[in-house]
Amino acid sequence: MSDPTRPPGPKIIAVANQKGGVGKTTTTINLAAALAEQGFRVLLVDLDPQGNASTGLGIEPEDRKHSTYDLLLDDARLKDVILPTAVAGLWISPANSDLSSADMELVSLEKRSFLLHDALRQPDIDAFAFDYVLIDCPPSLSLLTVNAMVAAHSVLVPLQAEFFALEGLSQLMLTIREVRQSANRLLRIEGVILTMYDVRNNLSQQVEADARATLGEIVFRTMIPRNVRVSEAPSYALPVLQYDTASRGSEAYRALANELIARHLVADKKG
Ligand code: ADP
Ligand code: MG
Repeated sequence: MSDPTRPPGPKIIAVANQKGGVGKTTTTINLAAALAEQGFRVLLVDLDPQGNASTGLGIEPEDRKHSTYDLLLDDARLKDVILPTAVAGLWISPANSDLSSADMELVSLEKRSFLLHDALRQPDIDAFAFDYVLIDCPPSLSLLTVNAMVAAHSVLVPLQAEFFALEGLSQLMLTIREVRQSANRLLRIEGVILTMYDVRNNLSQQVEADARATLGEIVFRTMIPRNVRVSEAPSYALPVLQYDTASRGSEAYRALANELIARHLVADKKG
C-alpha cells in the first residue's frame, strides 16, 4: 500500500517480553499476517535463536542458509537474507541456531547495540517498500533484545493473562528507559496486548483489571483469547488467519491490527 504522503521507511516494532511462553511469537506472526492481509508490506525479523517464527511460517531449516545472524554479524544484504512467505506481502528474515552465539559475539563489538538498527537502514530496504517491520525477540533482556529496541520505533509487549503476568514488567520498562537514555531517545511503547485471555476465568479478568489500572491506556482494548486454533496453526506452518480464517483468534489479531493502525493514524496527525 504505497502512500506518497507517508514518511520514508517502515514503522519498526519490537515484540518483547523477557518471559517465555507469553505469546510473543504468536503475536508477531499473526499481527504481521493481519497487516499483510490489509495490503501492507511487512517484514518479520526472527531474532530468537529458537527460530519459532521461522518454523511457524514454514521456512525449512535447509532454507535458512542466510539468517538474521548474517544481517547482524556478517554484513549481509537484506536481499540475500529475507524470504517471501506463503502470506502475500509478508517476508521474513529467518533465524537459525547461529543466533544462539550472537549475544556473546556481540559483547566485544563497539557497535554491539546498533547492529540490527544499521541492518534495517541499509539502502536496500527501500526497494522492498516495507510499511512495517515486526521483530520477534528472544525471551530475555539480552543484547539481542537491546538491538531490537535500538532498531525500533516502538515496543509491543504481549502480556499473558495469567498469574504473575505483571511481574517482570518493571524490569522490561527499565530496559526500555535505559535504551531511551543511551541509544534511542524516541523509543515509544506501542502498547501492551493481553494474550491467552479466557473470559470464563476469573484470573484472566483480574489480570486485565490490574493491567488496565496500573498501565492505563497503553493496554490495547483488543485482547487475544485463548483459542486452540491459534496454537494449532504453527504446526501447519501458517498464521491462524490462514489456517482458520474465521476463528476467534484470527478475528482478534485483525482487531489488534486495526487498533494499532488507528493509533498510528492519530499519532501521525499529532506529528
Ligand atoms: P513466546 O514467543 O512468548 O515464547 P509463543 O507465542 O511461542 O510465546 O506462545 C507460547 C505457547 O502458547 C505456544 O505453544 C503457542 O501456540 C501458545 N499460544 C499463544 N497464544 C495462544 C492463544 N491465543 N491461544 C492458545 N494458545 C496460544
Ligand atoms: Mg517466541
